[in-house]
Amino acid sequence: MSTDIRATNDLQWLAELRTTLTDELEVQKTRLTELTDDTGDPAEDHTRTALLAATRQSVEQVSGALQRLADGTYGACEQCGASIPRERLEILPHARFCMPCQRRRNG
Ligand SMILES: [Zn+2]
Repeated sequence: MSTDIRATNDLQWLAELRTTLTDELEVQKTRLTELTDDTGDPAEDHTRTALLAATRQSVEQVSGALQRLADGTYGACEQCGASIPRERLEILPHARFCMPCQRRRNG
């Protein structure tokens, strides 16, 4: 068994990240439920549609990150397979691509 300190720190960080993402998923799912409860106010429809789309996207992003954590593929770029720098993942935990690939995708 390796006793590499960096790997140990990574495992701890990943465990904390999983907890954070699980909490975040619950928050977003609760918000989604609240948003889909019809208040019957047409004036709210436009705002709520936008909020719903954003919240749905958050749920997808967070659950996708949790899935990758479970698969052991978390932190690898889906495009080129390179490791996504931890600094990037700390800012954007659901990042699926490294910076160069993300830039290419954005065009
Ligand atoms: Zn990449």
